Amino acid sequence: MWFCEFSKQYMKLFFAQQKKLWINYLKGYEDGLDSINARIYQLLVRGQKLMDQEKKRPESGVAEDVIRRGLVDHHPEVSGLRNRIDEAFFSPAGEDPSLSELKPLVIGLMKVRNEHARRQGFESYPDLVFRTESLDPGQVKDMVARYLDSHIEQAYGVISKYGLKQQNWFQRLREISRIRPVDPLDLYRCLLGRLGLSTEVLDGLQVHVGEDLLSGFVTAASVPDDVRLMIKPIHSLRQMTTACHELGHALHHLHNAEQGLLTTWSAIYDECMAVLLERLSLQTVLDDCDRRLAEKIAMVENVRQAISFSFEMDLWEHPEHADKLYRRHYSQIGWAEDSHDAWVLDTFRSLDPVYVHNYVIGAVVADRTADHLRRTLGCSPDIWGGWIRDNYYFDGRRRSLRQKTADVVSWSQYG
Ligand SMILES: [Zn+2]
Repeated sequence: MWFCEFSKQYMKLFFAQQKKLWINYLKGYEDGLDSINARIYQLLVRGQKLMDQEKKRPESGVAEDVIRRGLVDHHPEVSGLRNRIDEAFFSPAGEDPSLSELKPLVIGLMKVRNEHARRQGFESYPDLVFRTESLDPGQVKDMVARYLDSHIEQAYGVISKYGLKQQNWFQRLREISRIRPVDPLDLYRCLLGRLGLSTEVLDGLQVHVGEDLLSGFVTAASVPDDVRLMIKPIHSLRQMTTACHELGHALHHLHNAEQGLLTTWSAIYDECMAVLLERLSLQTVLDDCDRRLAEKIAMVENVRQAISFSFEMDLWEHPEHADKLYRRHYSQIGWAEDSHDAWVLDTFRSLDPVYVHNYVIGAVVADRTADHLRRTLGCSPDIWGGWIRDNYYFDGRRRSLRQKTADVVSWSQYG
């Protein structure tokens, strides 16, 4: 039974890697990830050879996705470059990495990711990412393009009104949404109560709050009993939104009743669950005035992400035209002049490639789910939580996001 043994060994290494990543982000880089990447890679090579022998279990589809994606992401050439960039961004020295040093590394990383994906028969690295997350590339692109089309005008108005630029984005959004400090755990308990979910699940969650921590990060060192969340203190609606978003990441782990590979997650599912909880929390814990402002902020962030994704898709094809492509896409929000090579510092171009669309799709899935809940269950949020737990969280990776949302989102209208 190669499969059981593979699954057991993979999960051990998978959670060890998550733990290491957590410690690096919490305490500053102590230890690189190269050696654990190498061990996972060797295991995946063995797994690939045996993959075709067992197709009966629901986990074999997941194993196939995990192996195909992992053979690229954990390949020493890919992970070695990625980890060098990760350390440059997050090293305790705290100095921003220099653009001229980073640019060839980021472009080189795109090149090797594409090469290794093609070796496995995919068109490109983005194609590999979409396919191993059960997404249709055409549908993803269409969904993001439609979101952008229908919100760009409104977003442009907000961006101009508040003078939002690439350099001041996060600081300005914090300033315009200042509120009295909120205790994150009080907020979490209140939110779970409003959604009719038990607060007992919080026993499996470590919450770290600190001014010097990342504004939001969640991982699981074991599912469902050791989930870890870090956030900054809440002094603004934006940070409150982030705190609720991170709880959304944590909640699906905390309610996952599966075992083995089915306790892992795809990026699209993970992010959609986070955006869903974020949007429901704005609707259930804020008064009308704060809610409108928080939703406006969320909308401009989604528009920025949609532009970032469209730019990235073109960049994968033509990295040599980065500057021109940046100008073309970002002129939509008046940022054409800020171009140069600043895109190199965007971690979605290196550490989390082909990822930023997840937030935009998350917004679409969240809106459709909220509509569905109102239509089928009525307007009392205290029964919504139970529906989400039973329909989205409970069976972890057993069904893909598209399967879980088949009655909620009409995926076929896209693409
Ligand atoms: Zn997230």
